[in-house]
Amino acid sequence: MNYEQLVVRYGDLTVKGRNRNGFEKRMLIKIKEALEAYESITYFKDFGRLYIKLNGHPYEPIANRLKDLFGIASFSPVVSTSTDLESIQETALALMNSLDKKPSTFKVSAKRAWKKFPHTSQEMNHLVGSHVLRATPALKVDVHHPEVDLRVDIQEEATYLFHEVVPAAGGFPFGTNGKAMLLLSGGIDSPVAGWLAMRKGLELEAVHFHSYPYTSDKAKDKVIELARRLSYFSGAPIKLHLVPFTDIQTRIVAAKQDPLIITFMRRAMLRITERLAYANGAGGIVTGESLGQVASQTLTSMDVIGRAADLPLIKPLIAMDKIEIIQMAEKIGTYATSILPYEDCCTLFVPRSPAIHPNLRFVEKVESYITELGELIDAAIEGTEVLSLTPESEAAAATAGKDDWF
Ligand code: ATP
Ligand code: MG
Repeated sequence: MNYEQLVVRYGDLTVKGRNRNGFEKRMLIKIKEALEAYESITYFKDFGRLYIKLNGHPYEPIANRLKDLFGIASFSPVVSTSTDLESIQETALALMNSLDKKPSTFKVSAKRAWKKFPHTSQEMNHLVGSHVLRATPALKVDVHHPEVDLRVDIQEEATYLFHEVVPAAGGFPFGTNGKAMLLLSGGIDSPVAGWLAMRKGLELEAVHFHSYPYTSDKAKDKVIELARRLSYFSGAPIKLHLVPFTDIQTRIVAAKQDPLIITFMRRAMLRITERLAYANGAGGIVTGESLGQVASQTLTSMDVIGRAADLPLIKPLIAMDKIEIIQMAEKIGTYATSILPYEDCCTLFVPRSPAIHPNLRFVEKVESYITELGELIDAAIEGTEVLSLTPESEAAAATAGKDDWF
């Protein structure tokens, strides 16, 4: 069937009550931006749903883009016809005949939104179903487990028929729940945490700590690639803050508290990220931590580390298993990049036996002895480079010389 239009259903938006209008407006803007290349598309709203008229544009690429848009729960390709019995019956039959895979069972689920239509929903199920059955002798009705559930949505100005419900990303439109900083390493977890945070409507700026020259340009490119991928989902450029961390790490290592190196490093990262958050109007910090995954992610460790910052720490992966995180990374297209074998600043300095239960008082005491820590943090912020990334900025990143960055 040559689909002429789509109906889009919103996700978490429905719980927003009074704010619903604002969210719908924002959603429409995001959809229009995402489909801006398809110039003839037209849009109209009805009963909290959005109808997209394709006006000759192909269905497939448009459907693929919509699947990834935050705030859309699902959508269906629909055919429309005028709201009279004969047209509806004929359109239903044409739709059934157009299916590539011929079903052996079906049912009709009619919904009479326009109450003045002379037949009830029940009657329409029979009237449309029997019309299709008469013309298709091999077909049977199965009301419990039909292969095709033919939906007939009867509205005053038109009737919409569809059978397919395509699930989309869900959540809230990008940026409708505030802004946070994402701690983005080159690993598997943090891009997934970023995707989940964005799905909840958070706008993100990414922060990455590097230890040049101990970490290479390739490690940097990997993080750029991950941020670039996240910007495909946001539908907006993502800022990536690249923070020079070598001096801080070197000073921490010199404190000769090997098991606590990661604890100190993470606390310094949080302090810096919090400063960047305040400077950029962000109200939270997102990390890829998952309970018990490594020594720095025990409850005690996360407590001691988290006390270095006042802003809320958002940890979307906290209760997820690694296998689930990997599956999500594959689904959102970050996994292949994440497993490239380039060193991260933390793996370089990882101690042989990191503390599983660091002691907050002791940690604070050692830090107080590192009197120049505050200055080193100031210098790291001063030396931070900022890139603005979009899905198209790949080539620019790959050709950027070292001087542009370090
Ligand atoms: P990931 O797979 O995301 O690297 P991980 O399981 O390796 O996570 P850790 O290395 O302990 O976990 O890091 C925990 C979290 O700290 C990361 O998910 C990320 O949010 C943050 N983080 C770690 N290293 C960096 C870094 N170099 N720059 C920015 N954030 C980092
Ligand atoms: Mg890591």
